[in-house]
Amino acid sequence: MKPVDFDYVKPTTLAAAVDLLAQGNGSVKAVAGAQSLGPMLNLRLVQPELLVDVTAIPELLGTREEAERIVIGAGVTHARLEDGDTSERTQAVLAQIASGIAYRAVRNRGTIGGSLAHADPAADWLVCTTALGAELLLVGTAGQRTVSAAEFVVGGFETMLAPDELIVEVRVPRLSAGSRWGYYKLCRKRGEFADASAAVLVDDARGFYRCVIGATSGRPIVLDDSRPLSELAGAAAVAEALSPTALAGDAFAIQVHAAAVRRAVRAATA
Ligand SMILES: Cc1cc2nc3c(=O)[nH]c(=O)nc-3n(C[C@H](O)[C@H](O)[C@H](O)COP(=O)(O)OP(=O)(O)OC[C@H]3O[C@@H](n4cnc5c(N)ncnc54)[C@H](O)[C@@H]3O)c2cc1C
Repeated sequence: MKPVDFDYVKPTTLAAAVDLLAQGNGSVKAVAGAQSLGPMLNLRLVQPELLVDVTAIPELLGTREEAERIVIGAGVTHARLEDGDTSERTQAVLAQIASGIAYRAVRNRGTIGGSLAHADPAADWLVCTTALGAELLLVGTAGQRTVSAAEFVVGGFETMLAPDELIVEVRVPRLSAGSRWGYYKLCRKRGEFADASAAVLVDDARGFYRCVIGATSGRPIVLDDSRPLSELAGAAAVAEALSPTALAGDAFAIQVHAAAVRRAVRAATA
């Protein structure tokens, strides 16, 4: 199939982009790398009147290093993160995550902000930014707000973005030198969307511990930080975590998600 007819604009300021989104009453869509939106347009799952290309807005395109965090523009591609400076711990983790997304042609165009806004439960950035304790800067016509990656996603393909809001920045707290990270996604072929995934961060110096299960039917699940990791990796803990989701009682899903948690824990504790 082909998309319905739509108009296309490429504003060069953030203010112009959010104004255009606000005028549309939901019939205007932002587009970044079009790696998710493109297929949805072709299948007519979305039928916008206007596409607002956000790839020429300077605020979305840079990355900057701050003392406590790395700030990534929402329009930064997976490939740029993959090619980042891996001598620094946080950048190395980001590069590792990016390198597992699809294949290079997709990574050349797909963006971290587009991936988070699309909120496919199986997406890599969704589970990993939640585990890393990242925050997102959202900007709309009413101003700006900061939300945690964990609260940003409210369900499968559902976020708290208002129709006139854009993700502008993804702010990832800097990992301590001795922190331990593990991310594992189970998929049939390297680079595919995950059938099950889990990410674990143990950062003693910052007192930050988190285990997150991804590729559920909804938002990533943050497991109770206070339990020992060995306990979180057990099938019973995973079954309990999945119980409020559509995967409740699904023995196969519980088994594969438990395997993903086990392997992420192993990577973080090896
Ligand atoms: C063959 C293939 C394999 C893939 N495999 C994987 C995989 O293994 N893992 C994985 O995680 N992903 C995978 N993807 C998805 C890929 O990561 C996409 O890049 C990503 O999902 C969307 O990013 P995008 O920049 O292309 O966004 P677009 O497709 O342009 O937009 C997606 C959605 O985000 C909105 N949007 C875009 N930018 C913003 C913004 N700054 N603020 C607010 N809303 C915005 C759009 O309106 C749209 O609703 C795959 C895609 C393909 C085509």
